[in-house]
Amino acid sequence: MKIWTEISAEHLAANFAAISAVITAETTLLAVVKANAYGHGISPCAPILASAGAQWLGVTDATEGARVRSVLREAGIPDATQPDILVMSATAALPHEAEAIIHNRLTPVVSSLNQLAHLREAAASASEPLPIHLEIDTGMSRQGISLGDNLNAFLNLIAASPHLRLSGIMTHFADTEVAHSVQTAFQRIAFEQAVATVTARGLRPDWIHVGNSSYIDNDDRESNGTSESNENKEGWLLWLAALAHRAGARPMVRSGLALYGHLLPIEGASRPAIHSLVRPVLTWKTRVLAINDVPNCHLVGYNGTWRATHPMRLALLPAGYADGLRRELSSTNDRPGGWVMIHGQRAPIIGRISMNLTSVDITAIPNVAEGDEVTLLGEGISAEDHARLAHTIPYEILCGIRASPK
Ligand SMILES: *Cc1c(COP(=O)(O)O)cnc(C)c1O
Repeated sequence: MKIWTEISAEHLAANFAAISAVITAETTLLAVVKANAYGHGISPCAPILASAGAQWLGVTDATEGARVRSVLREAGIPDATQPDILVMSATAALPHEAEAIIHNRLTPVVSSLNQLAHLREAAASASEPLPIHLEIDTGMSRQGISLGDNLNAFLNLIAASPHLRLSGIMTHFADTEVAHSVQTAFQRIAFEQAVATVTARGLRPDWIHVGNSSYIDNDDRESNGTSESNENKEGWLLWLAALAHRAGARPMVRSGLALYGHLLPIEGASRPAIHSLVRPVLTWKTRVLAINDVPNCHLVGYNGTWRATHPMRLALLPAGYADGLRRELSSTNDRPGGWVMIHGQRAPIIGRISMNLTSVDITAIPNVAEGDEVTLLGEGISAEDHARLAHTIPYEILCGIRASPK
């Protein structure tokens, strides 16, 4: 293999355990494995998380859910003991998606009447009612049913559908990486209202869930407690637990990024709750394809953005932006770019990254040979480093990696 990823099963399982411990035994952790487990590969990650005790996995659509089912089966986990799988994008309105959801025993997130109608039809012939999770739009204006008439119409339709069962209510917060976020405070109040509306209608969901990795990391009880509001004194996780308790449901939080060992910095928080507890899971590797000695003053790469300032030895790598190695990591003589690790030492990226080729400087690293292993990410280079250079977030770096697990 010319380019591949390696997964630390130990770190992934330990991250799951560490986050589970912080959210307390009462709250369930849904492990998000969408986007091919954030570029880490569903095939290694889903079985590791299931074995670590994940009761719920989160995917984007039915195709991904079906893939998780078969990967778990191949790993020797029988269907009866597999985690529940939440399909988080409202794709059930697309052709065949509703059938695939039922066929693979997936749990869809529902957020439109159209989608509900498709699921109702597909579930009519199934032997058991289809559990669904209702997403409430509490202020992100992305996906979800808004409060008011819309929600009531929705609840009426669910109550009148014997083949559907309201198993969960959820919302997504838009601003969790900001401590004391006013937007989150408003979203929490809207969600409380939505849950009250659902329970007043006589519906009894099993699960109430919110959040993402930063929501958990931002659960700074003492710091939030300095606010005047009583709600904030309890911290975000206790707020969720109390809300679920009042509705007779179980609290759950969803996490992806932190499971893989990364987190955004929390703006304004003095004590992030899980930041120091998780470790990166992924190493992304390739091999030296060729070694080139470049005389002084020669130009390197497209448009000659780099001119050798002394006789240089470059290693050519069979990886480029088509593989997810961001082109923003390219360098010029005036502006350093990214780097890779060879023999435990930094080798700076020289000139422009091409589609499938990249040159790195190994002048200072002795005895590099063709075929030697090269680390693109992990071991001295973090997804955060790439994100900074590429002016983006670690999420986009990780799920942009196009390589198969070894
Ligand atoms: C992706 C996703 C998450 C996980 O977010 P992280 O920030 O990676 O923890 C949680 N909930 C929903 C609805 C998502 O789409």
